[in-house]
Amino acid sequence: MSRFCSLIIMGPPGAGKGTQARVISERLGVLHIDCGQVVRKEVASQTEFGLKAKEYMLAGRLVPDELIIGIMLKRLKVADCANGFLLDGFPRTVEQAKGLDNYLSAKDAKLDYIIFLGITERTAIQRLTSRRFCPSCGRVFNILTAPPKVEGVCDNCGREIEQRPDDKPETVIARLKVYELETAPLRNYYKDSEGYLEFDGDKPGEAVTEDVIDAINAGGRCK
Ligand code: AMP
Repeated sequence: MSRFCSLIIMGPPGAGKGTQARVISERLGVLHIDCGQVVRKEVASQTEFGLKAKEYMLAGRLVPDELIIGIMLKRLKVADCANGFLLDGFPRTVEQAKGLDNYLSAKDAKLDYIIFLGITERTAIQRLTSRRFCPSCGRVFNILTAPPKVEGVCDNCGREIEQRPDDKPETVIARLKVYELETAPLRNYYKDSEGYLEFDGDKPGEAVTEDVIDAINAGGRCK
């Protein structure tokens, strides 16, 4: 039986967290939980949380800590997390990190790996404003680096692809500012932890994946 393995991936918006999280979680056999997707699902279903979260999301602001901690800890209790998880987009503040640590230590566990992807601001803006997604199946494209086979159309389901409202240039600038203020301190919070690993996210995606997998294998915690 595979053992429990818990990871988080963090870095500025546009660092490639989502793409890396998908590939890495598959290679390690753990569940990928995308916090932004959890939030968008709640917003689309107009749940009580979704209604509260919507205005923050559209403004490119973080949903308040207690709301997001509540929803994510609820998500971690679902049975599909039994073998572990790779959290993408959570925690984003030191408060959220403390909420996660408390949850894990109550189970006598702690994070096995903290993956930090560094990236320059220029790359962040370029990558984010060229990102598109399929509103039907959720697949993500990038019109510069990973375009669909037919321009403007999802490869999976043929729907017209769209830009997320929070990937528009004015919101992207706001998100980068939020990152500097609220999320960058997380790096300090984690950087002396066992299992903290830092990578160059400006590199091509495949190279970053191999760097991460190599480091995780060398660390020997997730087998
Ligand atoms: P993302 O897809 O990760 O860019 O997230 C989309 C939006 O969801 C963000 O702009 C926030 O409004 C909200 N959100 C996602 N993750 C978090 C989090 N950890 N803390 C607070 N808000 C979040």
